Amino acid sequence: MTLSSEQRVKRFFPYSNLRPYQLEASTFIYDVFKEGGIGLLSAPCGIGKSIAALAAYLAAREEAGGFRVLVLTRTKNQAEIYSRELRALRERVGVEVAAAIFKSKMEMCLKVGEDEKLRGVGYQDFLRYCGGLKRRLHGRRCEYYEAAVIEGWRPTVKARRLVESLVREGASMPDEVYEACKEESLCPYEVTKFLASRADLIIGNYNYALLPPVRASVLSRARIKLGSTAAVFDEAHSLPRYVIDLFSDELSTRSMKRALEEAERFGVDVSLTRVLAAFKDVVEELGHEAYSELGVDEEKIVDPIRVLRDVASRTELEDLEEVVDVLNHLEDEGERIRQLKAAEGKPPTSYIARCASFLADWATATESFYAAYVKAVRRGEELYFRLGLKCLDPSPAASVINGFRTAVLMSGTLWSPEYYMDVLGLDKTRCRQLSLPYPFPRRNRALIVDLASTSKYERRGEMLWSKVAFRLNTLLRALKGRAAIYTPSYEVLREVASRLSSDRPLLVEDERTKVVEALEHLRRHPDAVVMGVAGGKLSEGVDFTDAEGKGLLSAVIMVGLPYPKRNQLHEALVEHYRSRFGGLAVEYAREAPCINALAQVAGRLIRGPEDRGAVIIMDYRAMRPRFRARLPEDWREDIKGRRSLERIIEDLASLGLVEASFLAKA
Ligand code: SF4
Repeated sequence: MTLSSEQRVKRFFPYSNLRPYQLEASTFIYDVFKEGGIGLLSAPCGIGKSIAALAAYLAAREEAGGFRVLVLTRTKNQAEIYSRELRALRERVGVEVAAAIFKSKMEMCLKVGEDEKLRGVGYQDFLRYCGGLKRRLHGRRCEYYEAAVIEGWRPTVKARRLVESLVREGASMPDEVYEACKEESLCPYEVTKFLASRADLIIGNYNYALLPPVRASVLSRARIKLGSTAAVFDEAHSLPRYVIDLFSDELSTRSMKRALEEAERFGVDVSLTRVLAAFKDVVEELGHEAYSELGVDEEKIVDPIRVLRDVASRTELEDLEEVVDVLNHLEDEGERIRQLKAAEGKPPTSYIARCASFLADWATATESFYAAYVKAVRRGEELYFRLGLKCLDPSPAASVINGFRTAVLMSGTLWSPEYYMDVLGLDKTRCRQLSLPYPFPRRNRALIVDLASTSKYERRGEMLWSKVAFRLNTLLRALKGRAAIYTPSYEVLREVASRLSSDRPLLVEDERTKVVEALEHLRRHPDAVVMGVAGGKLSEGVDFTDAEGKGLLSAVIMVGLPYPKRNQLHEALVEHYRSRFGGLAVEYAREAPCINALAQVAGRLIRGPEDRGAVIIMDYRAMRPRFRARLPEDWREDIKGRRSLERIIEDLASLGLVEASFLAKA
């Protein structure tokens, strides 16, 4: 008997009740895998995409031969969901999937586990420290690495035996692997790499596909070829920004100063450090120019050739090549210092290594999709400067997706599939897409636009912020339950937060805020409010739910619309996109990121069928026909514009979201 696609995937679901549209999602992925295409799946939160993807993979593998799948996630949380589903498959369906699950190298490192000092160092410092130990730089080594790997690529007998027994026992959860490795004194990260060559399913973060050195070290080592492997990119709405952030970086004059002090302390040859000193001087001069022209926190585009010529002439070096050569030597010195510090029992950090590596990358990033800039920053009384490199275009890195045998990009909010295909440089001839409807009762969700507010740049000022704060204060007095308020930028966040007079427990995001603190704050206080920036850490990939998975929020309030800031970097992006997409440049540089950020913010509200709440967008521009046309169908149908606060409160009351005491007074 021939089974339909639905029947095939259904056999691999570990739960008796399928969620609304879950089967459609799974069947779509199955068909994409079978055909070898690239699928873009927009399936709202709550559909259960992770198990839908795993079931689709198992069904497709059964039919199309034993290919591997690489599941790539952005956050640790997402990876843990897949681990849980694998366990459910093992326990409920009896399907054993050989898996290799990568956590971050630092989390998997036995040395970090046993040495308190290592836990506090930055990730880049840790990677370099580990790399130095593996290469026995300066006479120091890692015994766990040497017990696991021979000649830089082969497993030792001990490592091979452990991998065999892990495969036999089906023990592939990261904690199980870590404990087994600890017992045998083997590096868990290296063992997981060996495990990958035996696995059907590999779970890791996006870097395993997107960063060439990581791809080479993990996939090539396991002899995994992209052309015969499937990939699932989870939360794929974040891919463009993830890639841009991955290939962008900044270095401050503070770090350069510390590097020069470090050089003096460790006796680094002045013929090397003078290049660093020259960079610092040039950046400070350009930074002062940027400050007087634009103020703080505003990027000013600079010409890298001019900067490098200036550095070369101040140091009497011939040309760019010599500058980079000196920087490479300086980086080696930094590594020597790192190992010296480690030998002295200090954290293995080196400002010199960090600065030299950044500057060498900065100097050689000559492609047209990079923009170089300086900006002034103020912390307290101190004014200092940052030199930066911004990647404008994710497609050179992201188009690796085309190399996979088949791939699925899925998210709750892939609202503009064309945008993702274009900016990620996907092969459109292989792409197909599916957009699934909102799965929960729409009567439990209000979508309201406050027509009397905006965050439009030209309107910003005392009058606007006072008005916005007044409306917010009134809404917070009326609302029953918890709220999350988002703003387009930290600047707006500060303006609005400073004018709030509500006596609700308030947590305002800053650079030190941890997601877990915001979650605890919401769980602890039934009337809590969190404030954050759209696109920031409290707006994406965060589950504001209680222990039972029920949504905690009664309202998500977006103050204004989260358009990207208009500045010189943004202009450079528009120009670059104009050369790639012509008339779609503004759409892709401005409108699509705004819609994406709004979708993420709104996605914090309803997490299950029982949840009820309101999304309030305080910006009249959200009701403009061109803006609404970009929203999904259920939004277009349900969204309502309200000019008066009374009408908004009536809408909230109709969902039972207004305090009785407020209604009594009204
Ligand atoms: S080789 Fe493994 S155990 Fe050794 S430092 Fe690196 S990650 Fe840690």
